[in-house]
Amino acid sequence: AKQLGKNNVQLFSNALSGKPTDHYELEADMRKALINNEFEVYYQPRVCTNTGKILSAEALIRWNHPELGFLPPIEFIPLAEENGLISEIGDWVAKTVCIQLKAWQGEQLQVVPISINISAQGFLRNDVISRFQSLLDETNIDPHLLEIEITESSYMFNMEKVVQDLAELRKMGIKVALDDFGTGFSSLTQLKELKIDTLKIDRSFIKHIAEKKQDEVITSGIIELAHGLDIQVVAEGVETKEQLTLLRAKNCDQIQGYLFSKPIREAEFRSLLEKGFIQ
Ligand code: C2E
Ligand code: CA
Ligand code: CA
Ligand code: CA
Repeated sequence: AKQLGKNNVQLFSNALSGKPTDHYELEADMRKALINNEFEVYYQPRVCTNTGKILSAEALIRWNHPELGFLPPIEFIPLAEENGLISEIGDWVAKTVCIQLKAWQGEQLQVVPISINISAQGFLRNDVISRFQSLLDETNIDPHLLEIEITESSYMFNMEKVVQDLAELRKMGIKVALDDFGTGFSSLTQLKELKIDTLKIDRSFIKHIAEKKQDEVITSGIIELAHGLDIQVVAEGVETKEQLTLLRAKNCDQIQGYLFSKPIREAEFRSLLEKGFIQ
């Protein structure tokens, strides 16, 4: 009877609302969701710090649950990681993005690379390389249009395998971003070992960059370090003009955050792509 107290409260409130949010039901729902097309990919632009040109976008999953409505990833991704469905969900996102890229190209849109989040579990599978290879073969998209975002939880347990896999993926032409940099135990050693194209500075650093000298200094250091290693830097969670001004002065390459755009549906992203810039 672990965590009885907490679970009790949860079950009680679920019983009251009548919502099937307990884990068993949500897990079964998740399996159905894949079949019934209830998941949806949103896109959040990554823009050039100086010009606002759209350089890339991150694919972020949402779930349109038939009873619970719109669910953000925090409500189901951790559960999917627990029950193993994350691999299938990850495959679905990757394939959806590739198909979308093809469709945009078919409409003569100026496409940009799309980054997808790969969970540690998905990344540590033995067949991660062959799965990406079949995805590329099947969808026939330019591998340079795909970037995978990994977090430290992917490499902390089996650095050797991850270093090999990343090298392999990059040989195939797929780009690699290190997500949430600055949180957890991400270290300089890892930056040295992992061959990556992009480093994403976590939102928690950006949040107070305009008020906290420490965060500002750390951010400057990360940017300089990354540039010294030929790595592009993305600042995550940029919400204010002040943050943008600081990041410009520090030569941060790309900005992702509500200041420019929240994650948006494909139709909306497509009209942004048509313009190519966000003011
Ligand atoms: P993440 O990979 O760090 O994604 C960035 C999150 O920050 C997104 O939340 C995005 O909406 C949010 N964000 C971006 N700019 C701002 C801002 O200016 N202010 C604030 N407050 N937030 C901002 P989202 O979409 O809710 O995703 C949360 C997390 O769920 C992601 O964090 C990622 O870890 C996970 N996730 C999302 N989609 C997928 C997926 O397809 N596969 C996997 N494995 N994980 C996913
Ligand atoms: Ca991410
Ligand atoms: Ca992130
Ligand atoms: Ca995160």
